[in-house]
Amino acid sequence: MIINGKKTAENLRSELKKQVAQLKSKYNATPGLTVILVGDDAPSKIYVRNKEKSAIEVGINSEVIKYPEDIEEKVLLDKIKELNNNNKVSGILVQLPLPKHIDKRKVIETIDHVKDVDGFHPINVGNLSSGYDSSIPCTPFGCSLLIKQVEKNLSGKHAVVIGRSNLNGKPMTQLLLKENCTVTITHSKTQDLKTECNKADIIIAAVGRPKLVKGDWVKKGAIVIDVGINKTDSGLVGDVDFNEVSKVAKAITPVPGGVGPMTIACLLNNTVECFEKLQSN
Ligand code: NAP
Repeated sequence: MIINGKKTAENLRSELKKQVAQLKSKYNATPGLTVILVGDDAPSKIYVRNKEKSAIEVGINSEVIKYPEDIEEKVLLDKIKELNNNNKVSGILVQLPLPKHIDKRKVIETIDHVKDVDGFHPINVGNLSSGYDSSIPCTPFGCSLLIKQVEKNLSGKHAVVIGRSNLNGKPMTQLLLKENCTVTITHSKTQDLKTECNKADIIIAAVGRPKLVKGDWVKKGAIVIDVGINKTDSGLVGDVDFNEVSKVAKAITPVPGGVGPMTIACLLNNTVECFEKLQSN
């Protein structure tokens, strides 16, 4: 089975569109997403444009604030504080990476955690790891929805997460633990990654190394989720060798068309959830 992230994301967006319409008539207000983009990073510009387009498509008010590369940190932090106090804004996202002179941690911690649609604020990170309600980082959230397309009950499954970033690997681990998986988290210092992967019922590869996971790393019948996006001479490829692994896995996500489209759909989902929380506060 090739897990169709594009279709799953499309379905989620159409559900959200209905939900946004209902919320509008219930509260006479519309969820609003504000994205801040600093500098001229080309991939960031594309991501932000796609986020804006998708938000508008589901009826979310979308605003993009652009700053030049050399913006002072204080100006950015003051803008975030202003957005925290603006009741038309339900979600705030500062596109990463930021220029080196800006303290990413300070920026994340300045965002009101109730408007933190990325789920990076320490309160949300803590809530997720404590098993409490929280904003969930969009990519791992998308991965967990894709796994659920294949297997509803993950209890007792052995999951191996490759990569331990705050963006992907760590929150993915928390989500799988919440589903009662036994989770092994691996990284660049892991010895014998192949042997670890061979034990897995579920593999999540979030590394950034083209075609790292080979066919003989994967147990027959495993579910393989490929988060990686790597530009190569032969085009975009994931962290999984799709040709080899698709012959042994029960289900696998392609790159592109797998996890990527889910990330933005989950961002919109988080924006709607933040809106609902703000209304009930
Ligand atoms: P990151 O912050 O660079 O983290 C990469 C992780 O992989 C680190 O934990 C690193 O270990 C580990 N690693 C590196 N080489 C390894 C190896 N040979 N064996 C085992 N582990 C290794 O990356 P990220 O932000 O999580 O992103 C990972 C990939 O996902 C990238 O390709 C990125 O473009 C993609 N991505 C996709 C989406 C999407 O929507 N599909 C969203 C975000 C990111 P150490 O901690 O020891 O350094």
